[in-house]
Order: sequence, then C-alpha cells, then structure tokens
Amino acid sequence: MAAAYTPQMAFFTRKKPAPVRTSAPAAAPAGRAAPRDPAFERRVQEIGAEYLRNAREAGAGVFSGSLSVFKDKLMDWAMQDEAFRVQLFRFVDCFPTLRTNDAIYEHLTDYLSQPGVKAPPGFELGMAAGGLAKGLMAKTMAGQIEGMASKFIAGTDAASALPSLEKMWKNGLCFSVDLLGEACVSDEEARLYRQKYLDLVENLPKRVASWPGNPVLESDHLGAVPRTNVSIKISSLSARVDPIDTEGSIRTLMAEILPILESARKHGVLVNFDMEQFALKDLTIELFKRCCEAVDFEAGLAMQAYLRSAPDDARSVVEWAKRTGRVVTVRLVKGAYWDYETIHAEQQGWPVPVWSRKCDTDACFERVAQYFIENTPRKIGEGGVKLALGSHNARSIAAALATLEKHGLPKSAIELQMLHGMGDPLKAAAIAMGLRVREYVPVGEMIPGMAYLVRRLLENTSNESWLKAGFLDNADVASLVASPFREHDSDPGIERIRLAPERHTLSCAAAGVGDGRPFFTEPMRNFSISSVRDAYRTAIASTAVPSVANDSTVTDAARAVAAADAAFPRWRDMPNAERADMLVRAAATMRARRDELSAIVIKESGKTWREADADVCEAIDFCEYYARESTKLFARQRLGNFVGELDEQWYQPRGVAAVISPWNFPFAICCGMTVAALVTGNTAVVKPAEQTPAIAKVLCDILWAAGVPRDVLHFVPGPGETVGAALVRDPRVALIAFTGSKAVGLDIIKAAGEPREGQEFVKKVVCEMGGKNALIIDESADLDEAVLGVRQSAFGFQGQKCSACSRVIVLDSAYDVFLHRLVEATRALVVGDPREPGTDVGPVIDAEAAAKIRSYIEIGAKEGKLELTLPVPAGLEAKVGMPYVGPTIISGVRADARVATEEIFGPVLAVIRAKDFDEALRIANAPAYKLTGGIYTRKPMNLERAKREFRVGNLYVNRGITGALVGRQPFGGFGMSGVGSKAGGSDYLLQFVEPRACCENTMRRGFAPGL
Ligand SMILES: Cc1cc2nc3c(=O)[nH]c(=O)nc-3n(C[C@H](O)[C@H](O)[C@H](O)COP(=O)(O)OP(=O)(O)OC[C@H]3O[C@@H](n4cnc5c(N)ncnc54)[C@H](O)[C@@H]3O)c2cc1C
Repeated sequence: MAAAYTPQMAFFTRKKPAPVRTSAPAAAPAGRAAPRDPAFERRVQEIGAEYLRNAREAGAGVFSGSLSVFKDKLMDWAMQDEAFRVQLFRFVDCFPTLRTNDAIYEHLTDYLSQPGVKAPPGFELGMAAGGLAKGLMAKTMAGQIEGMASKFIAGTDAASALPSLEKMWKNGLCFSVDLLGEACVSDEEARLYRQKYLDLVENLPKRVASWPGNPVLESDHLGAVPRTNVSIKISSLSARVDPIDTEGSIRTLMAEILPILESARKHGVLVNFDMEQFALKDLTIELFKRCCEAVDFEAGLAMQAYLRSAPDDARSVVEWAKRTGRVVTVRLVKGAYWDYETIHAEQQGWPVPVWSRKCDTDACFERVAQYFIENTPRKIGEGGVKLALGSHNARSIAAALATLEKHGLPKSAIELQMLHGMGDPLKAAAIAMGLRVREYVPVGEMIPGMAYLVRRLLENTSNESWLKAGFLDNADVASLVASPFREHDSDPGIERIRLAPERHTLSCAAAGVGDGRPFFTEPMRNFSISSVRDAYRTAIASTAVPSVANDSTVTDAARAVAAADAAFPRWRDMPNAERADMLVRAAATMRARRDELSAIVIKESGKTWREADADVCEAIDFCEYYARESTKLFARQRLGNFVGELDEQWYQPRGVAAVISPWNFPFAICCGMTVAALVTGNTAVVKPAEQTPAIAKVLCDILWAAGVPRDVLHFVPGPGETVGAALVRDPRVALIAFTGSKAVGLDIIKAAGEPREGQEFVKKVVCEMGGKNALIIDESADLDEAVLGVRQSAFGFQGQKCSACSRVIVLDSAYDVFLHRLVEATRALVVGDPREPGTDVGPVIDAEAAAKIRSYIEIGAKEGKLELTLPVPAGLEAKVGMPYVGPTIISGVRADARVATEEIFGPVLAVIRAKDFDEALRIANAPAYKLTGGIYTRKPMNLERAKREFRVGNLYVNRGITGALVGRQPFGGFGMSGVGSKAGGSDYLLQFVEPRACCENTMRRGFAPGL
C-alpha cells in the first residue's frame, strides 16, 4: 500500500536519510479546593459508574484487543515481579540499538541475571543455551517487543498507519497523528521533522478526504471539526529550545512552525501543541499564543493538570483567548513526566512542580476541566477554550460530563481523547454514549518508538494507574469513581524538598553552625522562570568588574606571609565554631549577591550564564560544607574505651597557607581552597590567577566582612612567576593549595620538597592538576543522551575545565551514527557574547591560550580528520574583548596521537574508534592523567566493568563528566591529575591539618573512675 503513494506522497514514505473581544472569564479554579456539592458529586458518580459498567461490557467485544499486551506471559510476569519489570523495561529501552542476535542475547541475559531478578519459568533454559538457541531467543524477544510496540504505535510512518486510521474511523474514532522522534539535537534533525510535519499536514487531508462523513466526529456545538488532527512537540522542531533564552527560542521556533501552521490553515488541519517537561511549559504557552496571533489556524494546546500551576496556566490561556477573541482547543491531560519532574526537582533543590498525590492531580484535573467548560464559547464569534479530555479515567471523564450537563452544554461541546492502544473498552463505551472520541496515534521508527513504549508500559503497570485498577485489577466500581477531593495536613512534595538535607545527610549537622542542619547544595537558578532571567540580566547590565591590578610584588608577598605567620597562633587557638560561623556568614552574603557575583564572573572570565551561576553556587557550597565538616576535626575523639587509660585524637592547623588559584573557576576554586585553609585554623595568603583577580578580590572582601581578620587573610594579586614562586618557597609557608596546570603543579611539589633555611616543617602540597578525560560510548548507549552529554562536557566553558571531555571513544558499531549526530549537534551551538543568555560558547581566556589551542587544531588536522571548527562571528572578539576558538571535532584519531594524549584545555575533541569494549577501556586508561571519565551504556556488565576498571578520580555513568557538586560528587583525581585529594569531600579538610594524639593514664593509686 505504501508504494502506491510514493511519488507525490513524500510524507508517507520519507525516512530519515542515513546519517479583540473582551469578556470576563468565569472564576478561575483553585488548585486543591474543598469538595463540591453533594448532589453534583452523586451525579458524577452515577455517570462514572454507568460509563465504567458499559466499558467493562465492551471490554469483551471488538475493542478488547489492545489490553492483551498486559495479558501475555512476559508482561504477566512483569506485573508480578517488580525487579523483573525494571530489568525488562530497561532491556526494551535499549533493544532497538542492538544490531545482532548475539548482542540481543548478551544484553537480555545480562539484564535478567542482575541480583534479585527472577526470570519467568522456562526463560532460564533459553538464557543458559548457546549456539543456535541464542538466535532463537533473540528472535522470540524481538517478536515480543515488536508485538508490544505495535499495540501502541500505529506504524513506522503515516503510510503504514493509514489502514489503522481508516479502520478506527469506521469504528467511530477520529485521530491525532503524532510523529515519534529521537531528541532533536541538530538543525538537520529539526529540518527533517519540519519536513515530515509539512508532508503530513499537506497530504494527510487528501488521503482521508474520501472516507465517509461522520457528523459526531466532524462537528461540535459551534460547527465543523477538522478531520485531520496532528500533534507536534515543539522540542522536535528546533535544536535550540532552551527556556534560558525564551525569546530567542520562540523566534527560532516560530520560523520553523509558522510554515506548518500556514499549511494547516490552508488544508483545514488542527495542529495541537503537545506539552513536554515543566521547564518548557511557559515557553510553549507563550509560543502557542504568538502562533495563534500570527496565523488563523485550528489550534490546540495540551495542558497538564498534574502541575501545581495548572489553575494559573488555565486562567492565563482563557483570559488570553477571551481578550483576543480566539477559539482554541485545550487538551487537558494529567501529564506524562511525573517521575521525571519529581526526581529532577529534588536533584536541583527546586520546588516540585507536580502534585505529590495522585488524588490531588485528579482533583486538579476536575477543577480545571470545570473551568474550561465554564469558559467554552457558547456561540460562534466568542473567544474561549473548547475542552478535549485526554484521560482514560472514567471518574475524571464523568466529572466533566456532569459539568457539561450542569451548564446545559451538549456532549459535542467536549471531546474525549485517548491514546492508541490504551483503554479501548472506554473508547467503545464513549462512542456508544454519542461522544466524539479521538485517538492520539503515534507513528515512527523503532528507536524513538521504544522511549514512547516504555513510558506507556510504565504508566500502565504503575500502581497509581486508573486503567490498571479498572481493567486489570478489576477494582470495585465505587472506589474507581470515588471523589478525589480530600483535605491533607501535609504535602509530601513540599516535605520532600524541605527535609532533603536530613534525608541525604551530605555533611554532618553541627549544632550552632549555620542552621544546625546538614549541608545541602545551593539550588542553581531556574532560568525557565522569567523573573529569574530578568533579575540575572539586570545584574549583568548593572555590575562592573572591580579594577584589580596584578601588581603585588615579592616584597608584598613576604610582608603578607610575615603578618599571616604572626596572626597564626591567635587564629589557631580560636574556637572552631567561630571560624565556621564566619564561613556561614560569608555564604549568606554570597547568596544575597549571587547574580552580581555571577555577572563579575561572566565579564571577567567569559563564562556563560549557567556556568557562572554554577561557579557562584559552588563557592557557597564550599563555605557551608566545610563549615560543618570542620567541626569534626577539632573535637577530641576518644579511641577505645579502656578504664584507666584515656586515648584521644584530634587535629591542629598547619600554619600559613598559600592559596594559588586558577582562572577557570575563578570564584569557586579560589573560595574552596581559601575557606578550607581558614576554617581549619590556618592563615591564608591568596594569589589568584592573573586573568581573574577581580572576583578573587571580591571573595576576600566578603570573607573580611564576614569577620575573618585582615591579618589572617591576605590578598596578593601578582604574577605567578614572581609572587607565586616566592610564596611557594617561603620557609614560613606550611601549606600550598594549588589548582592549575601539571607543569606548575609539579614545579610546586618539587620546590616544596626542598627545605629552606629556617623552615621548621615539611610543606604540605594540596595539588589538583589537569586531565585528558575520556567518555566511552558503547553499542547500547542512548545516543540522544550521549551526543548532548559529550557536547556539553567537551564544549561547556569552551572546554576550559579540568574535568572537560577531550576524548570520546566510540565502539565501532555506534561510531558513524554517533559522530554524525555529534558533529551536527555541535553545529547548532551558538558562539557568542557570554552576557547573552542564548550563547553556548564564549571566548577562551586569553591570547596565549587561544594560540595554544589553535596550534593543537593544526596538529589534530594532520593526525585525524578535521570534522568541524565552528566559525566565530565577525566582530565578536572586538565586542567581547577576548579571543575565540570555535568548538572543534577531530575524528579518526589514533589513541596515541598528540591530540589524544596531551592536555589542550580548550574546545577541541578527539574522536577515537575502538573495536570493542576491552579496547575502549585500554584507550581510556592510557594517559597518565586520572581525573574524570565517563561511559554511556545500557549494558549492566559494561557499567560494572567501568566502575572497576576505568581508573579515574571521578567516573560518571550515563551523564556528562563535568559539574561535580560539593558533598555529592567529591572532586579530584590521581596519577598526574593531582595528589588524590577530593575537593568538596569529607576527607578534604584532613589535608589542611595535622593529627595529634594523647594517651592519659587516668589511674591514680590503683583507682580509676568508670570500672
Ligand atoms: C490523547 C492524549 C494526549 C496526551 N498528550 C500529552 C501531552 O501532550 N503531554 C503530557 O504530558 N501527557 C500527555 N498525555 C499523557 C497523559 O498525561 C497520561 O496518559 C495521563 O497522565 C494518564 O492519565 P489518566 O487520566 O488516563 O490516568 P490516571 O491513571 O487517572 O492518571 C495517571 C496520571 O496521574 C499522575 N500521577 C501518578 N502518580 C501520581 C502521584 N503520586 N501524584 C500526583 N500525580 C500522579 C500522572 O500524571 C499519571 O500519568 C496524553 C494523554 C492522552 C490520552
């Protein structure tokens, strides 16, 4: 059938090539409000019960097929055994990337032999088999998974889905087609999607035009309803959708979407904007409104009732529709990303945007549905919202039907929408009730299809799922249609964030230090909130970088050391709690001045918005974390419990610390090393990098203002060759905290090892140096994530982080696809002014660095293939006043090439091919640097091997390799990357102190207390 359409019907066959009226809205809904009147509630339950009974009867008939996915043997087992379910779904997720029977067999057996997993009876035999049976098992599994997928996904493209669509239509169901896609990481991928949508909008109406008319499906209380509905996800239409640059994203998206909408208007297609993650919600709503104002198309928008903001969002859309006289359809859904939103918010320390109880989501759904019905246009020409209910929950649907009744609106005023392959008995019963029922019909290839499939499987097997309760567990009718409106005393979502410090216990809690609770990482700015962006932008515009000359001399350094030396005994003997308190006070000042500090970092070092914010947050974290952790060191710790003998251990500070800090984390690292020295009772002389003295001076100002005496903390900005060298060699300096290059680090260690005249101790060097960090991509890796993770790790802050990825080692089977997507994804980066939110890549630190990076690019071009060096826009260097080097990718690099072994410290990435995982590990481990490393894999065995065999200080699995957080990912390497210390870890402060022990004989004349 597909072939018949080929010539003119590109949309059916095209595959991805290889590689102003105002009327006041009815009262807005509250989020969690008191229950409604009892008569109404009774009516809701009556409708719901009848609907459910009808659906259960229909379940035995024509529509029951799609529930069978949960009735086959594998799923049956999955429903009974949680551990098996997790592993099965994980396997399903990675299945399409596996190219051979051997790979399928290996991955399956690997997943199912994880601890605690019990395979279904009969499975063990297949797993134990070798040879031919492997192929058989792989084939059986492939058949099962494809069978499951085909229940939810109507075809690989619209052509193959057309027969299903037609059959649905004949059964009284209309459709909204959704094109499944991999995450869009490049303009090339965005263009392909746009083309597919254009084809769909242009050609699908022609194909369905010959179907017989159906007044229920094609009209509502106001008039005609388009036969063809298409659902789009805005993130698939541009590689540059990022709320941090909402205006820029909307501009780009409008350029992509408007031609689709123009075509939709011309061909009478309703286009629905699906709703994705919370971070994109405001952007999507704003884009939707602007598109509606630009093109008079049949418009639909999905809105999520699981969001706490749902009532406000609903109000904003209704008010806008009334104001502009626009009629739009809102598909009210509960939301498909509940777990993600909950997990992500907690990881970030942000308020959880979704309700925490299922009943609150359901109640919010009913309230918002009621609000939309109240604001449904009653006659043509009136602006407002027509409601489509995206739910399979008979109670939720019944509540809307009862509201319709109450307001005297016909059934045609709303639409039911359900997912293809889900809730078929409910669809049949709704059709029998004369309702317009639309299926959301995904079409697409296996790889993107799997993500969708896994989401559906998880949703349907979740204990919270109404569909599962209603049709698989056969719960009783009364409980299924019960009211979700309940009063609660507490909110688990709010508690989850409020009690996070105690639950995670990232540090000890020290009475009297700060708020007396354990440390928790400072939440970074949530740039999807417009007021947050506005405040940040204002700070950047209004903050000047203080002028600080690097003019300290060797004499100044000596004077500072002398003063610090003299101040040491007093500082040392001060109660630790007082020093810790100063750090907490400094952290409070930093918190209050966060955006201003970020602005200085941006302007002085060329960091982009998020990078600068992270720098400041990390500094705050160091203060709060070390303040708490230091308290453990100075309390005397009793060893053993002998009577007559008191054994104790505690620590003392070392003396004067020289802090020599780098420019790449100009605030955080300078702060971390300085406050670690101070809080442990050492005095400090800070010599910042010559490139970033201003932010270091601001740090010292904050610490002085927080109570650190001027003779305890000294600031000596000057050249490393003179001032730095003098500090390192000064016989009164007991400790050197250094972060920087390997060459300087080794020189410091050597110099510190030679005692000078008058020196009374062995100097301690706390030294963090460079890296040649690698990420491994294996055959099962999720390339959507791997491409973005590698891009961010390699080019974030222009690759000038010691943790940056400078080598990516890709297994042969994934190499070509990965490389192509990576290059295209990198092309989508914006090289620009770091003061602008839309900039991904700013300048490099100085001319010397730029020259070194460029020379390596020349070397690399000879050692491999120069795939890409992003051009730098004309005039940018002059505007910003710093040099630029565009992100560069060199492929086909040998493991021993210079660009694969020497530290470049810039945006240059070497791509290396490995024939198998053993070779990948060998290449990854080859350099003497041992700082960070990572792996993208969905193979449990590879993951475990990486943990054991990939020898780096910080290993990251299935994520980027930069951005370590204090207390959560203690940071630091070994080998030639450093002395093995871990900044932001519980043992870091030990390096700043010396242990002392005491043994007291407490027996006097044969008597000791305590026996
Ligand atoms: C036609 C259609 C289109 C859709 N389009 C979108 C879309 O654009 N964007 C989108 O995000 N989703 C979309 N969905 C998916 C939809 O959000 C889920 O299918 C829906 O959540 C299932 O709800 P239900 O009423 O059918 O089932 P129910 O079983 O009644 O509800 C399940 C939902 O409750 C919520 N929930 C689960 N546990 C909790 C908890 N502890 N606390 C609070 N809430 C909880 C979750 O959102 C979960 O999905 C669409 C669904 C349909 C039918």
